[in-house]
Amino acid sequence: MNYCVSVRALCEFTAKHGDLDLRFTPAPSAQEGMAGHALVASRRDANYQSEVGLEGDYKTLTVRGRADGYDPDSNQLEEVKTYRGDLHAMADNKRDLHWAQVKIYGWLLCKARGLTDINLGLVYFDIASTQETPMVEHFSSAALREYFEHQCELFLAWAERELVHRRARDAALLKLAFAHPSFRPGQRALAEAVYKTASNGKCLMAQATTGIGKTMGTVFPLLKAMPTQRLDKLFFLAAKTPGRKLALDALALVKQSTPELRLRVLELVARDKACEHPDKACHGDSCPLAKGFYDRLPQARYAAVESASHGALDKTALRDVALAHRVCPYYLAQEMATWSDVVVGDYNYYFDTSAMLHSMTVNYQWRVSVLVDEAHNMIERGRSMYSAALSQRQLQAVHAASPKAVRSVLDRLNRAFNDVHKTQVEDYLVVQELPVDFLKALQQAITTITDFLVANPTRVDADLQAFYFEALHFARMAESFGSHSMFDITLHDDDLADIAPLQSALLQGGGGCATLNIRNIVPAPFLNPRFTAAHSAALFSATLSPPRFYTETLGLPQSTAWIDVASPFTSEQLYVAAVRNVSTRYNDRDQSLSLIASLMAQQYDKTPGNYLAFTSSYDYLQKLEQCFAQRHPLITTWAQTRQMDEAGRERFLHRFTSESQGIGFAVLGGAFAEGIDLPGTRLIGAFIATLGLPQVNAVNEEIKTRMAAYFESQGDGAAKADKAYNYTYLYPGLQKVVQAAGRVIRTQEDTGVVYLMDDRFTRTEVQNLLPAWWRVEHISQVLSKKSENT
Ligand code: SF4
Repeated sequence: MNYCVSVRALCEFTAKHGDLDLRFTPAPSAQEGMAGHALVASRRDANYQSEVGLEGDYKTLTVRGRADGYDPDSNQLEEVKTYRGDLHAMADNKRDLHWAQVKIYGWLLCKARGLTDINLGLVYFDIASTQETPMVEHFSSAALREYFEHQCELFLAWAERELVHRRARDAALLKLAFAHPSFRPGQRALAEAVYKTASNGKCLMAQATTGIGKTMGTVFPLLKAMPTQRLDKLFFLAAKTPGRKLALDALALVKQSTPELRLRVLELVARDKACEHPDKACHGDSCPLAKGFYDRLPQARYAAVESASHGALDKTALRDVALAHRVCPYYLAQEMATWSDVVVGDYNYYFDTSAMLHSMTVNYQWRVSVLVDEAHNMIERGRSMYSAALSQRQLQAVHAASPKAVRSVLDRLNRAFNDVHKTQVEDYLVVQELPVDFLKALQQAITTITDFLVANPTRVDADLQAFYFEALHFARMAESFGSHSMFDITLHDDDLADIAPLQSALLQGGGGCATLNIRNIVPAPFLNPRFTAAHSAALFSATLSPPRFYTETLGLPQSTAWIDVASPFTSEQLYVAAVRNVSTRYNDRDQSLSLIASLMAQQYDKTPGNYLAFTSSYDYLQKLEQCFAQRHPLITTWAQTRQMDEAGRERFLHRFTSESQGIGFAVLGGAFAEGIDLPGTRLIGAFIATLGLPQVNAVNEEIKTRMAAYFESQGDGAAKADKAYNYTYLYPGLQKVVQAAGRVIRTQEDTGVVYLMDDRFTRTEVQNLLPAWWRVEHISQVLSKKSENT
């Protein structure tokens, strides 16, 4: 078996040298890149051949790729590189890398077509001006062959090592046994479903309650599927750090149970957590770990691979290797994604606008399987990835301290901002079309700031850079604006008082400052290509009902399978009551307090222990806690506060011990409503005084309207009003309720109670969204004597 490598990957391995240099050379977006390539091809003659597939062998290596174009009339092969900013500022080592790619393509074409010589063209295409800068050189086929073979030789030893690793990995995975003596109830069904969808190359949504061992139940079958499905990599993507930790623990257990399995497991962490020099910029003139990065990378790469064979390349292990070889740990981790079998990281790495793992998958044609942990978070996370906001106040603050070279363009942008809202009288306005003139001014500002930053690589203008990145993201989201998103303008009149006189003078039209928002509502069009790029994907969570809500909003393929894993818990373990005479609607909240407090006290008197009480807001929480404490001063209470820091959150949770008793008050959807584990008597009940519905406000109402229009535009006009309401309010709300209630029963030994305190919980459409294993009793609460007398 030969080792296959893409032209791009081969050149990145063999032809990169010198410093890591991430100065301001912002890469065009994928769409811009594709559009640039298409435009260049459209300018060529009729005989021009685009996207020429090429392949060639050298010893045990097969090198593949697609050259951008070949013109047989002029015998010229072209590689097109799109860019922004100043071409002269491009680092030499990057230009060398581009030439390396063209030369490899050149030899592959000469060989395929029996050419004795060829013209090679490196064409730089400026996204902003659409101008081409071609560089053309003539090569003999013999010279190109020599170059090709030399590059292959440089890679061969590593490739052979990789082949050995892959064979050993797959052989060990074929024999892999489950790491525990047996499957937990439900775990086998989950594992089988994951294995089956990986074998069919499909997507899966798996709803499975806590406690069945979802992480191992999904990781194990995918590892088993790796050799038979010829998977290159497995990506485990989590919404939060604890999810990553669970995955790393499960993988460590797998490796322990099968010592011959040298699985390379890599953890990706955010740049701000991995950076060793947060006060520096990522280039050799600023950061010592960027200086000579590519020269020291080969040794660091070897050491990292060795380290990964023995344990996981987690944050600590990577840092050790990186510092031992004086290279940046963050960028070493990015490099190691290519040489790892399993990558554990945040959703961002695969689903974000410029997600690294997704681009690598596409560019290197990897065959990957994706696991999405706690997938109920994906809608909100997806929306935030594809939304953008631009603040005029931020622009004015940046302008105040900006260098002269960019000041006039910022002035112009500020005037364009004013034009957008000068006739607006409402505080908040939804606008159907994006402001074209504003976007032109924004693009000009981006171009000027790019040029400035490229020309001044060592200057540190943190505020200008922060605004610049916001502007770039806004411009990108504007390019893909459609029925999946909305555009709105929020005025901030009160900001006027704080603006320095210079900035005040800049304001023409007197409308105050504004924030422009592009809000993504349905991330499906952005996420769908991510799912289809993977060989298979499995999304799992305790709350993925109703499945259609998730498949439609996330853009999962129609063939996506669904499994609702039978819960190992029984209705005897959890008493669930829906209280029919309590209303937590906004206008009824004050009247609801006594009844809710009374019910909580009665339950507590009946079974003293630790409880969580959930409300919809901090105001409601404070009122309820106050009401409860007044009437029942002997019962211990503690409460979540706004902006609670990590230490505060720890203190809150530490009050739930096996011996303690009391009631913790928290906000639904907050830090204590999911992702916390309080088994046994650490938590024996939850009072949920809210349906969790998002607040009815102008933004959410517009989201509902847009949601209806979006589904109509997708050909699904049936019952669109109900559907839009459910998708905007009901389903997200109930998902939070079920997550919060899920804190009570964590093991098959746990018992407890859940009170759903609102009459709407007795409705059939709401009950249908609750876990199938619950048996919900409808009750009416009577005010206790103590509550009446207080
Ligand atoms: S250590 Fe920090 S500043 Fe240096 S290259 Fe790495 S991420 Fe950039």
